Amino acid sequence: FVSSAVIMKGTQDEKQEQAALSQAEVQKQSIQEVRRSLPVFPYREDLLLAIQQHQILVIEGETGSGKTTQIPQFLMESGYNDGGMKIGCTQPRRVAAMSVAARVAQEVGVKLGNEVGYSIRFEDCTSERTVLKYMTDGMLLREFLTEPDLASYSVVIIDEAHERTLHTDILFGLIKDIARFRPDLKVLVASATLDTERFSCFFDDAPVFRIPGRRFPVDIFYTKAPEADYLEACVVSVLQIHVTQPPGDCLVFLTGQEEIETCCELLQERCRRLGSKISELLVLPIYANLPSDMQAKIFSPTPPGSRKVVVATNIAETSLTIDGIIYVIDPGFCKQKSYNARTGMESLIVTPCSRASANQRAGRAGRVAAGKCFRLYTAWAFKHEMEESTVPEIQRTNLGNVVLLLKSLGINDLIHFDFMDPPPHETLVLALEQLYALGALNHLGELTKVTYCSEEVLTIAAMLSVNNSIFYRPKDKVVHADNARQNFVVPGGDHMVLLNVYTQWLESGYSTQWCYENFIQFRSMKRARDVREQLEGLMDRIEVEVCSSGGDIVPIRKAVTAGYFYHTARLSKGGYKTVKHQQTVYVHPNSSLFEEQPRWLIYHELVFTTKEFMRQVIEIDSSWLLEVAPHYYKNKELEDSSSKKMPRKQGKAKEELG
Ligand code: ADP
Ligand code: MG
Repeated sequence: FVSSAVIMKGTQDEKQEQAALSQAEVQKQSIQEVRRSLPVFPYREDLLLAIQQHQILVIEGETGSGKTTQIPQFLMESGYNDGGMKIGCTQPRRVAAMSVAARVAQEVGVKLGNEVGYSIRFEDCTSERTVLKYMTDGMLLREFLTEPDLASYSVVIIDEAHERTLHTDILFGLIKDIARFRPDLKVLVASATLDTERFSCFFDDAPVFRIPGRRFPVDIFYTKAPEADYLEACVVSVLQIHVTQPPGDCLVFLTGQEEIETCCELLQERCRRLGSKISELLVLPIYANLPSDMQAKIFSPTPPGSRKVVVATNIAETSLTIDGIIYVIDPGFCKQKSYNARTGMESLIVTPCSRASANQRAGRAGRVAAGKCFRLYTAWAFKHEMEESTVPEIQRTNLGNVVLLLKSLGINDLIHFDFMDPPPHETLVLALEQLYALGALNHLGELTKVTYCSEEVLTIAAMLSVNNSIFYRPKDKVVHADNARQNFVVPGGDHMVLLNVYTQWLESGYSTQWCYENFIQFRSMKRARDVREQLEGLMDRIEVEVCSSGGDIVPIRKAVTAGYFYHTARLSKGGYKTVKHQQTVYVHPNSSLFEEQPRWLIYHELVFTTKEFMRQVIEIDSSWLLEVAPHYYKNKELEDSSSKKMPRKQGKAKEELG
């Protein structure tokens, strides 16, 4: 069925060529029709008037009402870009920024990257002509570094404000501040939920402009008992809908790339088996790292007689609207960062989503007609096990990066920074303490310079930033893939393995073929290279030397220890225990140290799946902890009381290390 989709596209292309001119005309007309049909359209004049009269305006409107694609066009049409001034619109997600920019460029009738463009990390698709710029909230933050008053912007739209990402929350504080001495700057805060009073209140009682939505009723179905395997339940539900329900597309919410790919494979496989017994089902994934040509596919109209199923992360909850969805399948989970201020531990875990999220998801089924939402959890769970709404990211993250960013913007007094929801005081203090302990801040709280074996550490940092997508493991070549992976194993741990992969790739001349032969994902490697280049550029700018340890792996492991000393775990019966808090954790089965089980480890992150797993671990010597973090560890905590219990394993580890 993948191939039938491709064939269909081929014939469509031919037709397009034949009737290129008239088709373009028709398309233009229909685009205008679609624009006029959106709920925001009748409010164009009122909205422009409100923007003219108020410096800051909060805009509330249901998902799909046209906030993101239309309002910036209204602003362009009424001259807010005169004199080369820019209109900026932020999105919490890269995919949304790209996809929306592409759509708007099409609507305006310009080439993407000319008048309408987007900017996301490592990809700047704008030019001198760009007046409407979609970007991630992180990119706008970055612009504050070079243009602290955002002088080149006439309007800044903080879109998807309800998402309350860390970057959006910081933008709120910074923009509120600059709006005071830039009365000509218009600020629009756009949100999909009813919580707009909070935004209004934060921005000194800015007025709220409400765009009435159009919604068809959505019937909600719950399961009678909890689902043991929600992935399988999704697959079964999709197929059931496909064979029993009238036409209409289907949207499935899963938590991440891996799950989505598995679900798509399962669906395709079962459809293949059913063959011509069922009508065609087009299975399309959408998640953050999906290549952009694949992203665009989810928007193409479903051919008559077939059904489209889009398997998405919560990007399809409010950021992207896919027309034609009638059925929603919601297992009720999302991947969320969580932070324990007491232990200082941050982890990415699959958790039940909030009731607000579940309701947004259900709402996706009722945009074009009455729809149905199948919740793969019980009505009881909805009521009693889900939180009312999602806690803002700033409340559940390590603030180290935020502190560094604000300090580099010259904001030293973080305690009094104007946060909409201030992070817990102890989290902020902990971040300052950690940065001081790391030597990133001096005793005056100012940024310092530090030099380690930066060459290798740069590579490791870059590789870790794309860590879970380096190794390619197709289901039909598992043995080959695992062998290939085994060939990269070197002593020391996963960080060293990642360094090895990168170094070999570099020696191959950054070859695609090399990646292919070694079951390495080329796209991830390219991304790691981009990250590395960017980090190297930053080092250069702040004059930190890039130097190599010359093959000695001890300094590299010490550097990781210096940066992550609070992520130390010690071997104990049946698993590991974190040193400070005695939490039981395990080495991830994918790790190069899974068999070896060295006595002391530092982990990069914790993921909770079936157990609390440490992902990306490196072997260390406990004495290093006293060297790099004497303020944090006492000698007594690091005594090897258990040394006699595990002589064999330890011996093996030593041998292999040589
Ligand atoms: P809101 O921001 O209020 O949620 P949008 O402006 O994103 O609404 O969506 C308005 C309309 O534009 C929707 O019907 C949506 O399907 C359509 N749309 C948005 N992006 C694309 C795209 N990349 N391709 C096709 N249609 C799109
Ligand atoms: Mg939007």
